Amino acid sequence: MAIPQGVKFAVIGAGIHGLSTAFHLAQMLRASGRGSGADILVVDKTAIAAGASGIACGVVRNNYFQPAMRELMAQCVEVWESDAEAFSYHPVGYMQISPECMREDVASIYEQQRRIGYDSVFIEGADASMRYMKGLFDDWQAQGITSVLHEKKGGYANNKASMHGLAAKAENEGVRILAGVEVLGFEFGSNSNAVTAIVTNQGTIPCEHVVVGVGPWVNQIWNMLELPKRITVKGRDGRLHDDVPMWKFWCLEEGTLGIDPNLHKTNDGRFPPVIHVDTDAPLYSDLDGALITDELWGIYYKPDFNFGGIQGGASPYKVEQDPDDVAVDPYGPESPDFIVGENFVIMWCSALAHCQKRFEGQVRNYKAEEKSGGLGCFTPDNFPVFDTFRENVTIIADSNHGYKMIGVGKLVAQELMGEKSALLEPFRFSRFERGELHPTSHSPFPWS
Ligand SMILES: Cc1cc2nc3c(=O)[nH]c(=O)nc-3n(C[C@H](O)[C@H](O)[C@H](O)COP(=O)(O)OP(=O)(O)OC[C@H]3O[C@@H](n4cnc5c(N)ncnc54)[C@H](O)[C@@H]3O)c2cc1C
Repeated sequence: MAIPQGVKFAVIGAGIHGLSTAFHLAQMLRASGRGSGADILVVDKTAIAAGASGIACGVVRNNYFQPAMRELMAQCVEVWESDAEAFSYHPVGYMQISPECMREDVASIYEQQRRIGYDSVFIEGADASMRYMKGLFDDWQAQGITSVLHEKKGGYANNKASMHGLAAKAENEGVRILAGVEVLGFEFGSNSNAVTAIVTNQGTIPCEHVVVGVGPWVNQIWNMLELPKRITVKGRDGRLHDDVPMWKFWCLEEGTLGIDPNLHKTNDGRFPPVIHVDTDAPLYSDLDGALITDELWGIYYKPDFNFGGIQGGASPYKVEQDPDDVAVDPYGPESPDFIVGENFVIMWCSALAHCQKRFEGQVRNYKAEEKSGGLGCFTPDNFPVFDTFRENVTIIADSNHGYKMIGVGKLVAQELMGEKSALLEPFRFSRFERGELHPTSHSPFPWS
């Protein structure tokens, strides 16, 4: 497909956010009589699903300690449910299983889920939690658990299949998606701050509005837009902190135990909810009994035919390099630096065995030949930024929360049509300087 001479909306990135925005915007343009998908061009330097959306575990949940995240996630789950087949979505539910230090946080999540009508069950106390879990899995044995939040909605979707489903919907609306087109820079107006064209490896494309959905590459596009590398953040202490790096990287650790997914079913023979366990019980190696950690740890897992086994992950680790020096490419499994190593394999498989007897002695079946893991790019408070910069550039920077956030593109599309979104408002860039940061929980994960 030839590079167009110009386009109204240029979308950079064919991941969840770029594709969702393009699809929903095309629908809205057509329905309003103000245009169509033909006004939208999506460019991707590699291909559809070449970024984080194509390797994500695919978990869709509401469980967030931050009220603004929870409300947004409820809207996103509705979008997943709107066409589960096309989005390759499995609505099996989700469980947050927690130790005492997280009980209050999770109780407040449950209360607020009740208030917004999000279907969930909350169990408190060690004995009641064990009973509830054994009711689902008779081999349940995780220690140190004093609460269980069982979200009846949510679940997971198949990463690449869902992206292709979304791309097909966008293309049916007339959106053009060009692979192999890399944005190298921008042209700016002589009398304004606005972007007038995207400069690509295939030529310059004039445009009226740009949408950026480039996941872990956001720092590169941010630099091309000449936005500040360091910002002022009003901290929780009420003081202004200057010179805070805008972006930082964490490496996500995930993998697959190569056993039949059918081995992880509930007592009544159904596929289970996605399981997320955090606990402060000591974790011992399932290989030799050595202590792995006696600090708070967490894992998540699900049976997944797409990955060919029990797939899941553990807490990520911080990448200490300056963000400009981090090698984002080659991305994901192709990266020589940011894939999981043996420590993850032993920890995660031992944690599975800690939770359910059926996983004892299974570490030998871990799929070591399949490389896994990948980078995520995070904001100063680890929560998303959805905002407009340089007058006509909408940046969707999800701070690595975003595979589940399929609904954000719909809200961004509404904003491009001229309707402000209350759900996106808590995620504006100005919150850093104003000190309107999202509250943090006691979870060992930077994204809960
Ligand atoms: C291992 C892992 C597991 C995860 N699991 C989950 C999960 O279970 N649930 C969840 O909600 N989230 C999860 N996430 C986070 C989630 O995957 C990301 O937040 C989300 O996919 C980001 O989507 P995106 O559309 O912004 O970017 P991406 O999906 O990364 O897509 C960006 C696209 O932009 C393209 N691009 C980059 N630079 C340019 C350029 N200059 N020109 C043209 N194109 C460009 C890339 O080729 C890429 O295709 C996980 C992340 C990782 C790494």
